[in-house]
Amino acid sequence: MVNILYKPESRVAIVYLVIATLWILFSDGALLALGVNETVLSQLSLVKGLGFVLLTSLILYTYLHREFDRRFKLEDELQEQISQVKQSQIILAQSEDRFRKAIEESPYPIMLFAEDGEVLTVSKIWMELTGYTREQLSTLQSWTELAYGTGKQPVLNHIDTLFELTTRLDEGEFTIICADGTQRIWQFSSTPLDRLPDNRRLMMSIATDVTKLRQAEVYSLEHERLRARFQKEQERNIFVQRIISALSHDLRTPLTVILSSKDILDIYSDRMSEEKRHEKLDTIGRQVQFALELLDDTVNIARGNVSEVSYHPTPVNIATLCQVSVDETQTAAATQQRVKFANLNGLETAIIDEVLVSRILVNLLTNALKYSPDDSEVRLELEHTENWIVLRVIDRGIGIHEDEIPHIFDPFYRAKNAGSANGTGLGLCIVSDCVSRHGGQIRVESKLGEGSIFTVKLPFEEAKIVSAMTS
Ligand code: ADP
Repeated sequence: MVNILYKPESRVAIVYLVIATLWILFSDGALLALGVNETVLSQLSLVKGLGFVLLTSLILYTYLHREFDRRFKLEDELQEQISQVKQSQIILAQSEDRFRKAIEESPYPIMLFAEDGEVLTVSKIWMELTGYTREQLSTLQSWTELAYGTGKQPVLNHIDTLFELTTRLDEGEFTIICADGTQRIWQFSSTPLDRLPDNRRLMMSIATDVTKLRQAEVYSLEHERLRARFQKEQERNIFVQRIISALSHDLRTPLTVILSSKDILDIYSDRMSEEKRHEKLDTIGRQVQFALELLDDTVNIARGNVSEVSYHPTPVNIATLCQVSVDETQTAAATQQRVKFANLNGLETAIIDEVLVSRILVNLLTNALKYSPDDSEVRLELEHTENWIVLRVIDRGIGIHEDEIPHIFDPFYRAKNAGSANGTGLGLCIVSDCVSRHGGQIRVESKLGEGSIFTVKLPFEEAKIVSAMTS
């Protein structure tokens, strides 16, 4: 009831009612009091009526004028406020748009997600690096499922704790699985942001892709390790060859003694006393014994270095191993820039026995340098086909006669044109042993005076680069 009285139309009605009542009740009295007589009073009813209309019209006009003025002002103010709000909404939307764009176009993987797991924004680089689509990254659940597989739960638990943060946290490195099955190492750091309008807590995670950095570290360690290994192999190779030379030299004496004793017995046996004959036979026996012991000792030493090395395949950067072999062989041969290495289709990591492959390379490269002119180029090629790792050592040297090719893998065999070049005829025997331990094959193409190509094929087994690196 009281509210009704506050309404403008009620106020107008009340004012009108009051004025009309007062007019009706007191206008005649007032005129009489002013000295107007009753006869004139009856004639003045028209003037009174017009006066009433004039007065009420004036009052109504003043009141409505004031009221409408107030209303129009309010409406103007309201319009002003509405347009200000609209303007702020546009500015807010533009700012939100800029923020989203800044995240989406950022060169770093960035993700904005709410506490219920909804992913609000992801930078494009995140999708480019991982190979996942925006739909696959619509929730934390689906992202962790893809990126961490069975290991997703600990990661989700860790993410839950992030919402308790008040400042940025550097979380360390995580290994994620990409759409193509490869792995990447990302260093995450997360910062809590203000709550969303619906009161959900908001988090921003930024990642730095350190895969290449870690690979480079691993590769340089691998390079160093392979270099050391290669040097060791080279030393062993020299050692084996040296003991073989020593053996051939040391055998010469007992064999010469045996031969001369046998000649003496052949020629003079019937003229010799029994005692002298026994003496010669004893000499032969002793020298044979000495030769056998010498052979046993040498074989034992050589076994320790060659034959008893079994096959231990591990993931190895074979490209680096080739480069190290080239560098080291050139250094040992006191030559530079003669050997060119070509990795034909970018093979890097493969499962091989690095000791055996080092031996293969040291022998083939040393031979290529040894049996070709000092100014001619030697080429090492690495290639991989579907099933094989192919290593090719190509030289433009003296070549091998076709009749001799079948024999060059025999121990101690040296081709006629090897001449005075240092050697024991044992290197290719070692190479062939190492190749067969790998279940591989070796082939030689050679033309006398034109050069040789030694092709080694080893079964190819792929190793996932990052998994090998992180394991
Ligand atoms: P060596 O110690 O004599 O080099 P290897 O077993 O390594 O022994 O080689 C056996 C023989 O094969 C050599 O003596 C040489 O006659 C021949 N040979 C090996 N590699 C080459 C090559 N790249 N060019 C020409 N002849 C070669």
